[in-house]
Amino acid sequence: MEKHLVIVSFDAMVCEDLDLLRDGPVFSKFLNEGARVNRIRTIYPSLTYPAHTSMLTGARCGKHGIVNNEPSETGNLKCDWYWFHDKVRIPDIHDAAKKADLRTASVFWPVTGAHGSIDYLIAEYWAQGPEDTLEKAYKRAGTSDEVYDEIVKPVEKIMASWEPASSDDGKTEMACSIIRRYKPHILTLHLGQIDSFRHKNGVFNGKVAEGVMRSERYMQMIFDACRDAGILENTDFVICSDHGQINYSRRMNLNLLFVREGLIKTDEQGNITEWKAWAKSANFCAQVYLSDQAFSDRVHCILKKACEAGDLGIGRVMTAQEARTRYGLYGDFSFVLESDESTLFSSKWTEPLFSPAESVRASHGHDPAVGPQPVFLGYGPSFRSGVVLSEGEIIDEAPTYARILGLELPDAEGAPMSALLNIS
Ligand SMILES: [Zn+2]
Repeated sequence: MEKHLVIVSFDAMVCEDLDLLRDGPVFSKFLNEGARVNRIRTIYPSLTYPAHTSMLTGARCGKHGIVNNEPSETGNLKCDWYWFHDKVRIPDIHDAAKKADLRTASVFWPVTGAHGSIDYLIAEYWAQGPEDTLEKAYKRAGTSDEVYDEIVKPVEKIMASWEPASSDDGKTEMACSIIRRYKPHILTLHLGQIDSFRHKNGVFNGKVAEGVMRSERYMQMIFDACRDAGILENTDFVICSDHGQINYSRRMNLNLLFVREGLIKTDEQGNITEWKAWAKSANFCAQVYLSDQAFSDRVHCILKKACEAGDLGIGRVMTAQEARTRYGLYGDFSFVLESDESTLFSSKWTEPLFSPAESVRASHGHDPAVGPQPVFLGYGPSFRSGVVLSEGEIIDEAPTYARILGLELPDAEGAPMSALLNIS
């Protein structure tokens, strides 16, 4: 019998959220009859695009190449995100599935734009400015004419609205239409409202709880679609997430430190004319790039001094080698800064150095060990019933999917979570 796997990522869902979902008909199946990991250790930086790439490749950021949500461009505060898949350096589970001639599908999974191994694709991407349209944007990002007409068109208006809850309604509708029409062997779906509500309101509150509670309905819709497609009994389902969040009280314009030290120079309009060091924010951490390695000792000294001052928002300074050894994080940068956990880093270089958060606000990007942790729950024929592991690694997720579907992922750094599975 053909196997199917449906993976749903609820962005920024954390283990505490499961208490709110305990009584839901679908979530209770996962919690009572499925297998799960209570606390999944994510990668560093704990950002959506790097983490979702790790979730499908089984590798840490240095190896897969997506080290931030967007590339670092000195002086540019509005870089394009890593929407397109060509920047991912190693094969992911969709590549492995396609190689085995399986049907693949994905809805709004980050860094899947124009992914050559996904048959039915609606990437996380949107219209780029007033001249662009949803249709043109989606098609640039790999949605075929047929998928646009059959799957996207019925929810086109919802997807253009960008309200977090209705946008998740639209994404789930599209995933369900794909399941009913094409019966993919693997489908990955990414829903964003919990993350969005946490950013705007803080980690735990009523608005976030509302978003969490809607997860039951989305999973019910997906179960119903699998039943309609006649594949419910032979589908494995996974509920997972990419990172937690923590609250912050102020923002810090990190590159102002370099302006003050003469390492960034600006013209009268404030545009950067010359730079020796540039800090690229990853929210609660930052990656520091140098124009020339000759400035390395001087910059290291400045950063250590700022950290030791204790009140400048910098909790830790790591060399590139330390970040590589500790987190498998490497790239063209020379230092990694971790915040003091209440200061959010910005790449801006203008005064003032600090500005208070408007109200309770939360974010992520921090060390994976800090704060509430992401989840992993499996339910279906390949998952053992009633197995609960206290801890696991996000890089073990893709190898677990490979094991379920009988595929190879030779570049993965993680290993299958065999204790959760019925298959050896
Ligand atoms: Zn996220």
